[in-house]
Amino acid sequence: MSKYIFITGGVLSSVGKGVITSSIGKILQVRNYKVTAIKIDPYLNFDSGTMNPFMHGEVFVTEDGAETDMDLGHYERFLGINLNREHNITTGQIYETVIAKERRGDYLGQCVQIIPHITDEIKNRIRSTASKSGADIAIVEVGGTVGDIESLPFLEALRQMRLEESNHSIVFVHVALVPTLSISGEQKTKPLQHSVNELRRIGIQPDIIIARSAKPLSIEARNKIALFGNVRPEYVFNSYDVENIYKIPLLLEGQGLSKLLINLLALENRAPDWKDWIYLCDNKYVYEVKIALVGKYSKLVDSYVSISEALNHASINLKVKINKIWIDSESIENNDSEVINQLLTSDAIIILPGFGARGAEGKIKAVNIARANNIPLLGICYGFQLAIVEFARNVCGLKDANTTEIDPNTNHPVIDLLPEQKNLINKGGTMRLGSYPIKLVKNTLAYDIYGSEIIYERHRHRYEVNPDYFEILQKHGLIFSGFSLEGKRLEFAELKNGFFLLTQAHPEFKSRPNKPSPPYFALVKYILNNKISKVIRKEYA
Ligand code: GLN
Repeated sequence: MSKYIFITGGVLSSVGKGVITSSIGKILQVRNYKVTAIKIDPYLNFDSGTMNPFMHGEVFVTEDGAETDMDLGHYERFLGINLNREHNITTGQIYETVIAKERRGDYLGQCVQIIPHITDEIKNRIRSTASKSGADIAIVEVGGTVGDIESLPFLEALRQMRLEESNHSIVFVHVALVPTLSISGEQKTKPLQHSVNELRRIGIQPDIIIARSAKPLSIEARNKIALFGNVRPEYVFNSYDVENIYKIPLLLEGQGLSKLLINLLALENRAPDWKDWIYLCDNKYVYEVKIALVGKYSKLVDSYVSISEALNHASINLKVKINKIWIDSESIENNDSEVINQLLTSDAIIILPGFGARGAEGKIKAVNIARANNIPLLGICYGFQLAIVEFARNVCGLKDANTTEIDPNTNHPVIDLLPEQKNLINKGGTMRLGSYPIKLVKNTLAYDIYGSEIIYERHRHRYEVNPDYFEILQKHGLIFSGFSLEGKRLEFAELKNGFFLLTQAHPEFKSRPNKPSPPYFALVKYILNNKISKVIRKEYA
């Protein structure tokens, strides 16, 4: 039987609730408790696969091919576990199940209602996911902020669970922003107080309050939060801005959160073992490098959080400070000279994943700049595909080569729909998703990086390199270094000299702070080994 920690949020979304949830998990995990995490997203979408990453952050893909909320990425990275589709619950999924049950006749004679039918389904899912995971403690994070209409049924279900589960089985943690007034520098707790009131109005008194603030919380602010939030001052914690998110578990540990959780959940007080974690928090850099990341959602770094974290993992393990320069691929199309200069002076370029025509020519141009100047390049998914378009156009001489995603009538469809995608109508959850094996070719960069022949990486794509063009691409020097197991699909490609590595997969999803993703790690290591001289680079070959 699992115990539960429910995390709610107040004042604003995107205050780092996912990282706090993961950090609470870590505090218990280092005490040898088995921990899992579940994210509730109260929107009607069935999953986050159909949402715009610019508004909602990255779509995180699990081993089993679910397109989930980016917070699952934080849970996996902090806790070192693989989650599956059941760990991301949405309103869309709950309603779909309840309506299917109603049509099947499971509720014959009854009026089907939000309470109890929807709330029962929510509770069933939470309990069954927790129980299947075998966790001692399941941490359940409710997305959005208290007061949103759409999260009400979920909060109601959690309220009911507090009554139904035995004593010492449930802890409510409320995380809310404490803004600082820029003129007086005063930390204002009123919005947080209101969000606690909103929770209490629907029958939930949080046990613990975690204030999110830019700077450490003042004693006065803490006391006010305790008084108006109806908790003791020692039940108020503070997560302030830190440059390295992996420090947050230790920040909360230092404030005594573990002792409190152990008391409230009546857990055995075990000694923590932080030794494998603590080195992640040491930011003593020996080197510094600059990496340009080219994408169309680059104004919201959350759109590429797993890639950003994969680089952070390389940074931690190689003791190198990575300056990430996020470049909007459309500005390359406009020949913005400052942006072109950023590319030319970077130690490496990463072409980011994506969809559609907007900004694609800019990505193609960035590949050209990298190739012409021997700037190390890593192309991920769409970055892989567009690099192959660049190579087909400028090396193989197929002038109008393109992906059919952008130009369905191109004379040279070097990137085309996967065959099994051709007759698909539904867009939700139908890409080639999740973990697939890849067979690497010996004596290639890819093989060197991974050090084994069969590897597994996660995927999210509808298009692939068209096998009709395999021969011409190879004839012109593109090295095919990884295929799907049956040998039909190109998974890795590279060029002979320097570091020019392309992959159809998304290795970033499996990157962990203490086990960085091989391609990202290898890219940074390559820069360090060949600290590129700052020669003036030219724009075209
Ligand atoms: N748009 C491309 C495809 O669907 C690449 C997707 C991606 O980068 N994740 O194949």
